[in-house]
Amino acid sequence: MAFVITDPCIGTKDAACVDVCPVDCIHPRKDEPEFAQATMLYIHPDECIDCGACVPACPVAAIYDSPESTPASQKALIEANSVFRAGDADAFATAEALVQSHVAAHAELMGVAPAERAADHAK
Ligand code: SF4
Ligand code: SF4
Repeated sequence: MAFVITDPCIGTKDAACVDVCPVDCIHPRKDEPEFAQATMLYIHPDECIDCGACVPACPVAAIYDSPESTPASQKALIEANSVFRAGDADAFATAEALVQSHVAAHAELMGVAPAERAADHAK
């Protein structure tokens, strides 16, 4: 089990979750080279200790507490979270391709402001 970042992070990406994570498992951080180009942030599934600190820190409710609790509309982003590795260009490209595929498949969600997007996840 691990927490999962989903699409309200797209267009928000403020890194508030990074600042509260006790084990530095959310990437890319603002001081990592991938940050500027990353469409969203990712949680390393093996390093996350399920503490829950990131959830209230996120201003747009982008973070779910497990893959199982992540809505069906967001399932592609579970893999994006799991493959991203800071400093690994191939992993970055794979994660970003998954995100872009998700964006293309969910124009209806992308048309909603990030702050309201999570409310539409279960629809
Ligand atoms: S649940 Fe805790 S350990 Fe996991 S990403 Fe959030 S803050 Fe980090
Ligand atoms: S706090 Fe939420 S919106 Fe901000 S970077 Fe983390 S997951 Fe993305």
